[in-house]
Amino acid sequence: MAAALRLARAGASVTLVERRPYLGGRAYSFTDPETGQEVDNGQHVFLGCCAAYRGFLEEIGSLDLTSRQKRLRVEVRSPDGKRGTLAALPLPAPLHLLPSLLRYPHVGLREKARAALALLAMRLERDRDRPALRRQSLRDWLRARGQSERAIAAFWDLIVIPALNDSSADVSASAGFMLFQEALLRSRGGASIGCAKTGLSALMGDPARRRLAEAGATTLTGKTAEAFIVENGRIAGARLAGGETLRADVVVSALAPEVLLRLLPEEWRTHPAFAPAGTHEWSPIVNLHVWWDRPVMDCEFAAFVDSPAQWVFNRSRIAGEEGPGQRLTVSLSAAWEFWPMSKEELQAAFVPELRRLFPAARDANATRFIVVKERRATFRSLPGGPDNRLPAVTPIRNFFLAGDWTATGWPSTMESAALSGAAAADAALRSEAAA
Ligand SMILES: Cc1cc2nc3c(=O)[nH]c(=O)nc-3n(C[C@H](O)[C@H](O)[C@H](O)COP(=O)(O)OP(=O)(O)OC[C@H]3O[C@@H](n4cnc5c(N)ncnc54)[C@H](O)[C@@H]3O)c2cc1C
Repeated sequence: MAAALRLARAGASVTLVERRPYLGGRAYSFTDPETGQEVDNGQHVFLGCCAAYRGFLEEIGSLDLTSRQKRLRVEVRSPDGKRGTLAALPLPAPLHLLPSLLRYPHVGLREKARAALALLAMRLERDRDRPALRRQSLRDWLRARGQSERAIAAFWDLIVIPALNDSSADVSASAGFMLFQEALLRSRGGASIGCAKTGLSALMGDPARRRLAEAGATTLTGKTAEAFIVENGRIAGARLAGGETLRADVVVSALAPEVLLRLLPEEWRTHPAFAPAGTHEWSPIVNLHVWWDRPVMDCEFAAFVDSPAQWVFNRSRIAGEEGPGQRLTVSLSAAWEFWPMSKEELQAAFVPELRRLFPAARDANATRFIVVKERRATFRSLPGGPDNRLPAVTPIRNFFLAGDWTATGWPSTMESAALSGAAAADAALRSEAAA
């Protein structure tokens, strides 16, 4: 969507092809037939440091449909009722975090001092992509910096798991450094949390489609690209399901890496410029949407230590919905454990857990429970893997790559997707100008 809009705005004649009946990809919402409410496939948040994504929302006219904190403030609770806050104060970065870290009740004093030193080392690191950091896991790096198991569970992974959809044991130190540097250590506003007040389709897919039409682009939904046509080192277009052929001077692929490879002719699929895309691995996210017959949560979102619930979002409060009930979303990242569980098993595990976490839920009834599982929610930022994040420019001169998994330097996020779209569109425009 970002690439198509940029190209259309630059005067290109653009056709966007999408397999599904709607735009939005991995960030969409659907209407719950029982309540009539819009439900996201998964809670999506963005941070203050996500400038390209906010720019995209602005371009499609929907930034106003989001709310964003001025500065990070998140309550971190434990089931025994202990409450701490991670917050950015109006102090120069990275000192802005220090007061809340020092008061943080879920780890001991020595652990806090060590965490502060590790954050400082991250802040001072100039080359987070150097091989030593790419090869080791964040957890190994943290352990070598004296971080205890408790500190990893109750501080580091509290941030790493929702942001990178994997634990610190699984992500590379480079990916962890990227997250902490960009979100927490560089500026006071980098980690301020933003959420959609509407469903995700009303935020992105639908307005993007309208803007594309205004910019003169054609959107073909419900059309699957089956093969790219490459002739004499140039891409000539794509063959769509049903046999239709779409001819083009320039093609931007925003497909997932394995779909891209499937669509390429054999000699390009195995070409060293494309083949590494086939080595991406993916982590699952499970979202539980729970309706209560009365308000049970008193803030917009909270994170939990010593609980499987991870992060809970008060969708009613965020969307400004009227009572009498309340709708919560439990966002379970790196959900390997929850992925195989049935709806009944998840309900049996999490409704009591929410009652344990929210005293007001103890006498409340959970009136509706929806589970959305996304097996391939985000690509993994594993240590030591091959360089499988491909650049926008390919050896096929008029063929460009976008998608969150391309070489943006960002993890699997909407920011990465927006950055990749802009990079691919700019490269395409440059190549046309040069042709
Ligand atoms: C549950 C969940 C929670 C998430 N939470 C967050 C979050 O909090 N913050 C955040 O920033 N990111 C989050 N993400 C990640 C974010 O959604 C993705 O990074 C982003 O949407 C990727 O966009 P993309 O355009 O690169 O890929 P996609 O959204 O996957 O788009 C690829 C598109 O290609 C289409 N397609 C596939 N095959 C074909 C074909 N043959 N022909 C035509 N079209 C085809 C697909 O239908 C799809 O629309 C989350 C993801 C999930 C699943």
